[in-house]
Amino acid sequence: MPAAAQPPGRRKGPRFPPATWIAEITTLRDLLPPASPDLSPSAVARWPAHVGATCPRCGAFLVSGHGPHPSPCGPCAAAPPTFDVARSLFDYAGDVRAAIVAAKYAGRPYPVDAVTLRLHETLVGRWRDLIPDGAPPTVVPVPAHPWKYFRRGFNLPALIASRLSRRIGLPFDPLALSRTRGRVPQARLPGNLRHENVEGAFRVPRGREVPTAILLLDDVYTSGATAEACARALKCSGAASIVVVTVARAVP
Ligand SMILES: [Zn+2]
Repeated sequence: MPAAAQPPGRRKGPRFPPATWIAEITTLRDLLPPASPDLSPSAVARWPAHVGATCPRCGAFLVSGHGPHPSPCGPCAAAPPTFDVARSLFDYAGDVRAAIVAAKYAGRPYPVDAVTLRLHETLVGRWRDLIPDGAPPTVVPVPAHPWKYFRRGFNLPALIASRLSRRIGLPFDPLALSRTRGRVPQARLPGNLRHENVEGAFRVPRGREVPTAILLLDDVYTSGATAEACARALKCSGAASIVVVTVARAVP
């Protein structure tokens, strides 16, 4: 039986299949304002960083049992990402998650300075190899969709990237990338749709010169699809090395 034609005037169906929206509904609790986390500098200083084993390439948090120099994780061994290396400071859980959710969806202040301090301390400490001497990268934030930027009035990765670049003394380029689509938050999509959601969603503005070395900053690393899409756009425009740094990592 042929499919019935859509009634005139009826809106087109959802961009993603129903299962996506069901999954999204189940995660609506993420949009609710969380119990007020303590976001004082002393509280943020106590947020537990992930210090266990990570994939040397994508930074995936590995379960125990790995030595000091673990091998790349399965996905990286099968298909290395376009970016050179990625690292995340915290698990996307507890007050780390609550602070990001509260800032993005409830308009509450985010402890930008305190989180930037934690990132700075780590970048000059156990992540010091990410910034080689003599080849300082330019800090580039993952851009927000213009509609989201207009609604929120800020882009969290850009706020953090700006402070971090000043604190650590690196160039800052918030306009190296622009976002053309990808309005559904990655964390609210099943993994098989995250790449589709951001595929081709980022581009380097026409005529813009891309820095050779880039430190790409985002708030949360979920599947890596966003970092991959950004890295493809940047490397297609001449970037040679891309280090991805995120505040948190959503552990599946
Ligand atoms: Zn990996």
